[in-house]
Amino acid sequence: MKTPNGYEMIQLFEQFAPKHLAMEGDKIGLQIGTLNKPIRRIMITLDVLEHVVDEAIVHEIDLIIAHHPPIFRPLKHIVTDQPYGRMIEKCIKHNIAIYAAHTNLDIAKGGVNDWIAEALQLQNVDVLVPTYEEPLKKLVVYVPRTHADAVRKAMGDAGAGHIGNYSHCTFNSEGIGTFLPEEGANPFIGQQGKLETVEEVRIETIVPARLQRKVIRAMLQTHPYEEVAYDVYPLDNKGTTYGLGRIGTLSEEMTLQQFAEHVKTSLHVPAVRVVGELASRVRKVAVIGGDGNKYIHEAKMSGADVYVTGDLYYHVAHDALMLGLNVVDPGHHVEKVMKEGVANVLKTMCAQQKFDVDIYVSQTNTEPFTFI
Ligand SMILES: [Zn+2]
Repeated sequence: MKTPNGYEMIQLFEQFAPKHLAMEGDKIGLQIGTLNKPIRRIMITLDVLEHVVDEAIVHEIDLIIAHHPPIFRPLKHIVTDQPYGRMIEKCIKHNIAIYAAHTNLDIAKGGVNDWIAEALQLQNVDVLVPTYEEPLKKLVVYVPRTHADAVRKAMGDAGAGHIGNYSHCTFNSEGIGTFLPEEGANPFIGQQGKLETVEEVRIETIVPARLQRKVIRAMLQTHPYEEVAYDVYPLDNKGTTYGLGRIGTLSEEMTLQQFAEHVKTSLHVPAVRVVGELASRVRKVAVIGGDGNKYIHEAKMSGADVYVTGDLYYHVAHDALMLGLNVVDPGHHVEKVMKEGVANVLKTMCAQQKFDVDIYVSQTNTEPFTFI
C-alpha cells in the first residue's frame, strides 16, 4: 500500500470522470489549494459550504471532491469575515484542496445521472442528450507471422478492437514484407546490407483516440522488430456516445401520482412538485439531475411520458403542460446520490491501485430548503 499524491489521486479519478466530458465553460478541476502533497483522507460532498469545510477540518481531510464548484462566478473579493471568504481561508489555512467534478461527473458512464436512474429502477437506460462522441482511430501494424498472436493479444488487452459487446476485434491479411538493414542497424531478422523478405501479417484494429498511446505502447513492447512499421488513420465513424441525462423504462406502467410517490421514496425526498394529470399513465422516464429546465424539449422528443428534473421554473412548467409532458421535480438536492456513488468508485479504484486512502462521505446536509 502507498500514499498517493494529489496528482496521482486525481489522475485515477479522471479515468472515471474525464475532464473532456464537461460542458463548455464549466468550472471544474482543482479550485483551491494544491495537489502537490500526500493524500491520506478524501471527503466527498455535493456542495462546499463553510460548515462542510468545518467537517473536513475535524476529519483531517487533505482533499475534498465536490460536485458543485464552490468558485463558479468570477471572484470579486475574498473577505474573511464573511462566510464565503472564511470558507476559502479555512481551506488554505488547513491545507485542504478542493477539486470539483461537475458536468463531467453528470455525463460520465456510471455517474450522477446513472445513479439517479438506478435509484428510480429504470431499465434499458440510454443517454438523453448526447454531448460527446468518442473519436476513433484505425491502427494498422505489420508483424512477422511468428509474433502475430502475441501482438494481437497485447493490443486487445490494452483496449483495441472494442466493438459493441466484442473485444479484441482485428482483421488480418498475410503478405511479404521487405527491408534492407543499413549500417548501424541491429535487425531481429537478416543482416546489414542484405535485402530481406519476411512473411508478415497486416493486423488492423480500431482504437478509441484516448487509448491510442496505450495501445501503441503495448504493441511496440510485444513486436520483435527494432523499427516497427505501423500506420494510424483518423476515422469518421464514432465510438461511445456520452451525454447529459438518461432515458429508461419502468418495469411496469403506473399513474403519474404513483410515480411521484416512487420518486419520493427512491430519491429520499420529503416532497416533489408535479406537472401533469395525476391519473395519466407513465412508463418511459427521462431524468436529468440538478437543473434540467433547458432540456424539456429533448425530454419530450425522446418519447418520455414523464421528465424528472429539479429547479423547475414556473414558465417552463407551463411549457411542459403545453407540450403534454409530465414533470416530477424532486429538487436539485437529489444529486446527493453522488456522495456514496463517488465514494464507492474511489474505494474500488484505490484498492486496485493499492492506494492507502480513507474515503469519507460528508454527513453535512446541504439542502437549503425545509419542507413544511
Ligand atoms: Zn447540480
